[in-house]
Amino acid sequence: MTSNLEGLAHLPEGPDGEAGPKRGLVIAAHPDDADFGAAGTAHLWSKQGWEFYYLVCTNGSKGSDDPSMTPADLVRLRRDEQRRAAQYLGVKDVFFLDHVDGELTAGRDFLGDVVRHVRMVRPYAVFTHDPEAIIVRDSFVNHADHRITGMTAVDAVYPAARDRLNFPEHLDEGLEPHNVKEIFIWGNDEPNFSVDITDVVENKIQALLRHTSQFGEGAEFLKFVRERWKDESGRYFERFRRITLIR
Ligand SMILES: [Zn+2]
Repeated sequence: MTSNLEGLAHLPEGPDGEAGPKRGLVIAAHPDDADFGAAGTAHLWSKQGWEFYYLVCTNGSKGSDDPSMTPADLVRLRRDEQRRAAQYLGVKDVFFLDHVDGELTAGRDFLGDVVRHVRMVRPYAVFTHDPEAIIVRDSFVNHADHRITGMTAVDAVYPAARDRLNFPEHLDEGLEPHNVKEIFIWGNDEPNFSVDITDVVENKIQALLRHTSQFGEGAEFLKFVRERWKDESGRYFERFRRITLIR
């Protein structure tokens, strides 16, 4: 398994010969998913000159068991939490699509929104959820919003963002087609690439703790993730299925 920035850290160098650093676009279903999936990588690589952006597809309006919490308050809170987590990590910007949590559907509108952001950010790499798994290790259901976000992100990379005649209305907005070079899928059962985030795991945890509505004071959560994420050698990794697109 390859690790870290081998073959990736040619800086300064943008995608398609564009000036400037490489960009990563993390496409996530809910506020906090981008941080679970790729906060360590985003923070580590940002320190090495990459620029990261988050695209959050739903508004997170179902993520509370508190009877006094309204969906409207929760949306505002979670948006703020996500912004603070991203800012803490050095992520350049966060975009929100505000689809209703738990009700995401694949289709032209959602795909068009994701393609628009790919064409705006022009990332070298897209990071996203696993679109394939429904049942994970006989222990989890892969949330439908996660599957649909992963699938739409992959569909946006190829072929929709690349081909001029897909969403031609974007041309009127000044957005040109864009070739993403690599996709990194988190939560996949067959990872072929891992990023050693041991040096920044506390930063990842601190970013997740910005999501106060999800993890409360965080004592139990901290104990849980520090143990659960650690491998046999005591190190921490974010593991991805890395797809290098040849075309
Ligand atoms: Zn989620």
